[in-house]
Amino acid sequence: MANYEAVIGIETHVQIRTASKMFCSCPNSYGAAPNTQTCPVCMGMPGVLPVLNKEAVRKAVVAGLMCSCEIARFSKFDRKSYFYPDLVKGYQITQYDLPICKNGKIHIGGIGFSGEPLAEKTIGMTRMHLEEDPGKSTHYSNCTGLDFNRSGVPLIEIVSEPDMRSADEAYAYLCALKEIMQYADVSDCDMEKGQMRCDVNISLRPRGQKEFGTKVEIKNLNSFRAAHRAIQYEIKRQIIELENGNAIEQDTRGWNDELGETLVQRTKENANDYRYFPEPDLLPVQFTDAEIDAIQASLPELPAAKRARYVADFGLTPYDAQVLTSERTYAEYFENAAKAAPEAAKNTANLFTSELLRSLGETSQTLAECKVKPAHLAALAKLVQAATINSKTAKNVFAEMFETGKDPDTIVKEKNLVQVSDEGAILALVKQVIEQNPAQVEQYRNGKTAVIQFLVGQLMKLSRGKANPKLAISMIQKEINGN
Ligand SMILES: [Zn+2]
Repeated sequence: MANYEAVIGIETHVQIRTASKMFCSCPNSYGAAPNTQTCPVCMGMPGVLPVLNKEAVRKAVVAGLMCSCEIARFSKFDRKSYFYPDLVKGYQITQYDLPICKNGKIHIGGIGFSGEPLAEKTIGMTRMHLEEDPGKSTHYSNCTGLDFNRSGVPLIEIVSEPDMRSADEAYAYLCALKEIMQYADVSDCDMEKGQMRCDVNISLRPRGQKEFGTKVEIKNLNSFRAAHRAIQYEIKRQIIELENGNAIEQDTRGWNDELGETLVQRTKENANDYRYFPEPDLLPVQFTDAEIDAIQASLPELPAAKRARYVADFGLTPYDAQVLTSERTYAEYFENAAKAAPEAAKNTANLFTSELLRSLGETSQTLAECKVKPAHLAALAKLVQAATINSKTAKNVFAEMFETGKDPDTIVKEKNLVQVSDEGAILALVKQVIEQNPAQVEQYRNGKTAVIQFLVGQLMKLSRGKANPKLAISMIQKEINGN
C-alpha cells in the first residue's frame, strides 16, 4: 500500500452573540417559537434597507485579533446569489474579495483526541469574513418546515489553510477555535444550537508529493466527534479508491452519523455559480489604526497562554491545565478559587477536575447553577492541604457542599470530621486492628504485604474515616514489624 498523506482544511461558521441581528433590530436569540423573531428586513421584503450591526463588526475584529489576523482597514459587503427556500432574498449578504480579517493562525497542541499529547503545530487561517445566516430548514417525512428566526443572524466564516494532516489535528483545531471564540466572548459556540458549524475539505496525496490531490468536501458535521469520525472514514475510503486505481471525484459529501459513512450530496458538474457583486445598500466598513489598537488592548488572555501560566505558577499538570481552560467559565471559576487560596491551587484544581466536574455531569448542571462557590472550593482545598481532613473525607464534604451550598469549615465542624493525626489516638486503633485480625497480620508477616490495605481499611472504619491514612499505614507496619 502506498503511503498517503491526508491534507485537511476546515471552513467554520460561528454565530456571533449579539443582542440583535446583523441588519435589523430583531432579537438574536435561540429557542423562540418559529418565525416569531422576524421583520420585513430579515424576511427580505422589497424596498427594505439593511442597517449594519456595529457590535457584530467589533466582535469579528476581536475574533480576528485573537487569531493573529491582519485586520482590514477597508472591507465591504457583497451579495452571493443562490436559490434555496431558507434564503428569503435570493442572495446572502457576505464578504467576497475584501474580508474583514485575513492571514491569521491558531496554535494546536496539548492533550489530543486520543488522550495522548499532540505535537505542537500552527494552523494557518486564510481569512475570516462577516455574513448573515439564512433561515433554518427542518425536513419532515412529508414536508419541510422553514424558520426565519435565524435569518440575518450575524456569522463569521473562518477558512483555515489546508494545514492539518490527521483527524486528531482537525479535532484539535476545532477545539482551539471554539475555546478562542468563547474566551473572546464572540460566541457561545453551542453546536447543538447551531452556533458553530463546520465543513471539512480533505484530499490525499502520496507522501512526499507537493501537489494536492482532488479534494472532497464533507458537510453535516454536527459535533467535533462527528468531524473526527468522518475524516477517519474519508481517509480510508479515499485510500481504497486510489488503491483500486480509481480517481477521486470532486464531490460534496454528507456525513451520516448513524451509518458512520459519507454519502455523495452533490457532484462538481452541478456546482453553484454564485454571481457575487458588491452590496449596494451598505457602506464599506472602515477602521483607523487607533480603533484597532483600542480593540487589541481589550483582548483577554489566550487559552494556550493561560495553560502555560497554570503549569508554571500553580504546578498543575498539563492535563489539569487543559481541562481548566477548556471552557472560559471553568478558567474564571478556577482563577477566583486560586485567588482565595493560592497555596492550595493544586488541590483546588484536583477537586475541580475530579469532584466538581463529575457532580456537574451527573446532575446536568452548569457551573453557573452550581451551589459550590469558588471560595468554598478553595476553602475545602485548604483543609486538604493542611491535612485537617483526608482526601476521602474531602469527597464526602464536597458531596454535601454540592447538595446544600454550605461552606466546608461548617460541615467539618458540625460533623466533627477533623482528621486524626494524633499518634497516641491512632496507636490505640492500630492495636485494636491487629488484635481483631490475626490471620491478616500473619499473612503480612509471611510477606503478603498487600494485605496492609485491608488493615488500613479496618482502621479507617474504626476511626469513622477520620484517621490520617499515611500515618495509619506507617504505624501499622511499625507495630507488626515490631520496630
Ligand atoms: Zn428582522
